[in-house]
Amino acid sequence: MSSHQARQIQSSRVGIIGAGISGIAAAKQLSHYAPVVLEATGSIGGVWKHCSFRSTKLQTPRCDFEFSDYPWPERDNSSFPTHLEILDYLHSYATHFDVLKYVKFNSRVVEIRYVGPYDISPDINKGEYGALLTGHPIWEVAVATSDSKTFEWYAFELLVVCIGKYGDIPKVPNFPPNKGEQVFMGKIMHSIDYSKLDQEATRKLLKGKKVAVVGYRKSAIDLATECAEVNQGSLNFSIKGLTKGCSETFFAFSSLLWKAVSKFIESYLVWKLPLVKYGLKPEHPFEEDYASCQMAILPENFFPEANKGKIQFKRASKWWFWSGGLEFEDKTRLEADVVLLATGFDGEKKLRSILPEPFSSLIVDSSGLMPLYRGTIHPLIPNMAFVGYIESVSNLHTAELRCRWLSRLTDGLFKLPSIEKMREHAGKELEVMKKTTRFFKKHCISTFSINHSDEICTEMGWKAWRKNNWFLEAFTPYNSQDYAEQN
Ligand SMILES: Cc1cc2nc3c(=O)[nH]c(=O)nc-3n(C[C@H](O)[C@H](O)[C@H](O)COP(=O)(O)OP(=O)(O)OC[C@H]3O[C@@H](n4cnc5c(N)ncnc54)[C@H](O)[C@@H]3O)c2cc1C
Repeated sequence: MSSHQARQIQSSRVGIIGAGISGIAAAKQLSHYAPVVLEATGSIGGVWKHCSFRSTKLQTPRCDFEFSDYPWPERDNSSFPTHLEILDYLHSYATHFDVLKYVKFNSRVVEIRYVGPYDISPDINKGEYGALLTGHPIWEVAVATSDSKTFEWYAFELLVVCIGKYGDIPKVPNFPPNKGEQVFMGKIMHSIDYSKLDQEATRKLLKGKKVAVVGYRKSAIDLATECAEVNQGSLNFSIKGLTKGCSETFFAFSSLLWKAVSKFIESYLVWKLPLVKYGLKPEHPFEEDYASCQMAILPENFFPEANKGKIQFKRASKWWFWSGGLEFEDKTRLEADVVLLATGFDGEKKLRSILPEPFSSLIVDSSGLMPLYRGTIHPLIPNMAFVGYIESVSNLHTAELRCRWLSRLTDGLFKLPSIEKMREHAGKELEVMKKTTRFFKKHCISTFSINHSDEICTEMGWKAWRKNNWFLEAFTPYNSQDYAEQN
C-alpha cells in the first residue's frame, strides 16, 4: 500500500478492532469516549457466529459466562446455552447498553501504522509506559470496507485489539513431500469452512461417506458427533508426542490440595466415561488440561454413538495423506472420502498480519507467549491494549473485568507500574503457567484467575474480597456478579 496516496483520515480518541465478546465488552466500558469499533464481518459475536456448528454449545455454566450488570434470562437454568442463545444474549446486552451505534460493520482492518512521536515508543531503559491518551494520534488504521474499493483511514490515540485467538486463519499441519493434501482424492475441509455450511449442505457432504475428523479438542468432538448422527463416522484422535514433565503449583499447600482434588476428579471421569475402553485416557494428569483451559464438555450423543460403532478412534502423533485417506506413523491406513480438519487456528499470525514492525516482532516473547500485564497491556507496545488473549474458564468474565480496568486506566484513575515491573509481573505469571501445565502456550490463567481478579480489583481501588461477609467469602463460589460495579 503506498504511504503517499492522498487520504482522508477520520479521527477518534479510542478505536476497537473486533466486535466479538471482547470488542463489545470494551465498547461498553469505554463508551464515554464514543469509540469506533471496526468489525470485519456483518455481525457481532465473533466465534459464536462464524466458528460454530449446529451442535456448538457453551462449556461454561451460563451464570459464569455473564456480564456482571446483565443477567442471562433464566440464569439458573443448568443447561449449557447453544451458540445461538449466546448470540442472542450478546445482542440483547449490546442493544440494552446502546453500543451497537459504535460498530462499523464490514470494516476489516488491513494495516496499522505507528504515527506517534519516536520517543513515545516504550523502551525498557525509558522506565515508564506513559498515559494511554496523549492528545495526539498514535496509530493510523487502514480499513477495507465492502462498499468502497479504496481504504478508509482512521487515527486513534488508543487502539484496543480484540480480534480473537480463534477463527479467520486456520492452522493446517505441514506434511512430508508427496504426502500432502494434493495426493488425496477425496475432499478436505477445515472446521471453519464446515461451520459456514447449513444443515442441508452438511448432510450432503457427510451422507454415505467415510469421514475422518482430525483433532482432539472440543471442535473435533462436536464434529465427530455431527458426522456420526448423519452417518458412519471415524474420529482420528491425534495427540502430539508428549513427554512427562513435572507438575507443581506455585504454593506447596495448594499444590498438594489441588493434586488430590484433581486426582479425585480424574478417577471419577475414568470410572464414569469409557476413556480406557476407547484408548482416550490422556497420558498427562487431568490438572494439566484444567490449567490450560482444554476441558471439553462432551455432547450427549458422543459416547452413545461410539458405543454403536459410529465413532471409532485412532490415536496418532504423526499423520499424512495417501490417495485414499490418511496414513499414520505406525504405517496403518484409514480410508476416507472426506477429511475434516479440526486442527485449530493461528491467532498469532492474524495479529502479526496487521501490526507494523517493530511491534509485530515483539508481540510474543522467547517462550512464545504475549507478555501482557493484567492480560491487557504489552509493556513494549505503546497506547495499545489487547483483550481476549488470556483464557480462563469464563472468557466473557475475564474480558469484562479487564475492560473495566482498562477504562479506568484510560481515564487516568491509576498509573501503570514501570515497564520493567510489568515485564517482571508477566514473567512470573508465565512461570506459574509453565509449572502447572506443559500446554502453557494456551496462555490460560484458570488456576489463578481469582488471584488475577483480586489484583485487578485492588489496582482499580476496589475491594479484592467481593462478598459482603466472611462466611460467603469462605464458602460460596465467585461468579461474574461478584464483580459488579459498586457505588
Ligand atoms: C468452538 C469454540 C467454543 C468455545 N467455547 C467457550 C466456552 O465454552 N467458554 C469460554 O469461556 N470460551 C469459549 N471459547 C473461547 C471464545 O473464543 C471466547 O469465549 C470469546 O467468545 C472470544 O471472543 P473475542 O471477542 O475475544 O474473539 P472472537 O470471538 O474471535 O471475535 C473477534 C472479532 O474480531 C473480528 N476481526 C478479526 N480480525 C479483524 C480485522 N482485521 N478487522 C476487523 N475485525 C476483525 C472478527 O470478525 C470477530 O468478530 C470457545 C471458542 C470456540 C472457537
